[in-house]
Amino acid sequence: MAIQWINGHIVRKQIWYEGLFTLTVDCPGVAPFECGQFLQVGVPLADKHLHRPYSVASPHGDQLEFFIVRVADGELTPRLWEMNLGDTIDISSKATGGFTLEHAPAADAIWLLATGTGLAPYIAMLRDSRIWNSYRDIVLVHGVRHVTDLAYTDELESLVRSSDGRLRLVPVVSRDRPEHGFHGRITTAIESGALEEIADLPLSPHSSAVMMCGNPLMLDDVEAILNARGMRKHKRNEVGHYVVERYW
Ligand SMILES: Cc1cc2nc3c(=O)[nH]c(=O)nc-3n(C[C@H](O)[C@H](O)[C@H](O)COP(=O)(O)OP(=O)(O)OC[C@H]3O[C@@H](n4cnc5c(N)ncnc54)[C@H](O)[C@@H]3O)c2cc1C
Repeated sequence: MAIQWINGHIVRKQIWYEGLFTLTVDCPGVAPFECGQFLQVGVPLADKHLHRPYSVASPHGDQLEFFIVRVADGELTPRLWEMNLGDTIDISSKATGGFTLEHAPAADAIWLLATGTGLAPYIAMLRDSRIWNSYRDIVLVHGVRHVTDLAYTDELESLVRSSDGRLRLVPVVSRDRPEHGFHGRITTAIESGALEEIADLPLSPHSSAVMMCGNPLMLDDVEAILNARGMRKHKRNEVGHYVVERYW
């Protein structure tokens, strides 16, 4: 079915670091969606409509946020990076995708694993009540290369402070040594036991649900590690432990 486009207007551009940014788009008319779903974002060109899927980094509303990284040699993201306040941007009118809390397993604790802009769906979820009503503990693990790639830090740290100990934030930085968190990769942090030590929670099939989002290499590696711990992919007709969203 053809995508119905809504003409959005950029009302805010937050630059976290060169090439890493959040666009807030005024686009009333997007149909209600669940946190974790994605919309198509794009621009019309002379010969085609250029668009890609982006997780919405905010709950449903008239203004929606998209957390984006410019991909070198990418077709769309260098164009999005050049956009500014007042510019027009096309947003699909209906969100899709099953990477939502409705499709995540029940557990005491939920581990939200992200690389890079894979953080976006979790920002939306943490701003909404559902995750807080569904899980006692929440561990947000953000894997990046450099400390400068750690976006949304002020908002997340403020949520940690107001969460009464329920939200843990674990930055995992591979090429710099972070002030807090883990220096290395998410996979090493899990395998070595360091992640559970930092979060002060077990990552186990008995008490944990896992959502993971972003770079497909990280996702494949983490899936293998979780499988070895007796955890399984959660499916519609088969209760498991983790759900996955691949960005490419
Ligand atoms: C469900 C879904 C949700 C997504 N949500 C987001 C989001 O919230 N934020 C976001 O920035 N991207 C997101 N993406 C990725 C996005 O759709 C585009 O693929 C990305 O922005 C590159 O577009 P492009 O036209 O610039 O690159 P293209 O010209 O399409 O080149 C794509 C190639 O660049 C590489 N690539 C794609 N994304 C990245 C990346 N993040 N880092 C490094 N290499 C990459 C891959 O090798 C891919 O084959 C999502 C993808 C999916 C499937």
